[in-house]
Amino acid sequence: MSSLVKVNWDSKLPIYEISHLKLQNEGIKSLLIDVDGTLLSRQSNIIPTNVKNWIKESKKFFSLYLISNNPSNERIRNIAQELDIRYKSNALKPRKKITLNVISEMNEDPKNIAIIGDRIFTDIIVGNRCNIQTILVKRLSRNGLPLKLNLTLMIEKLISIFIK
Ligand SMILES: [Mg+2]
Repeated sequence: MSSLVKVNWDSKLPIYEISHLKLQNEGIKSLLIDVDGTLLSRQSNIIPTNVKNWIKESKKFFSLYLISNNPSNERIRNIAQELDIRYKSNALKPRKKITLNVISEMNEDPKNIAIIGDRIFTDIIVGNRCNIQTILVKRLSRNGLPLKLNLTLMIEKLISIFIK
């Protein structure tokens, strides 16, 4: 697969089932985390408890940063404040500028940084363009559980086959 749409780890898991130990074993020290679909449904303001617990545990091992394309700074700020994590809204992924700014703010070797997100054409592509590791997770629905049928991802994977 072409480097732009290459996924280092297509986990097929919701974020809260990602193993912290596995990330540490991959040398990951910092995580850039997408918000909508990854931490909670875009249609919800409630962060699922298991996501909160996963974030709390993550802070013991990793430096965290939320990086969202959502233009609503208020929504992303509220979520970031509840989780007590630095954030960027309106990040314009897959454009590189804001993500590169965050990476330089993390003060970490890019190979020890991973982006976690639910979309190939934003999260994964920006990760590859910035030479960091890429982790794809399942999109969360309004009930906090992974979406059974993610049409967006199916289409993105189909298109990825043709642009490799
Ligand atoms: Mg997303």
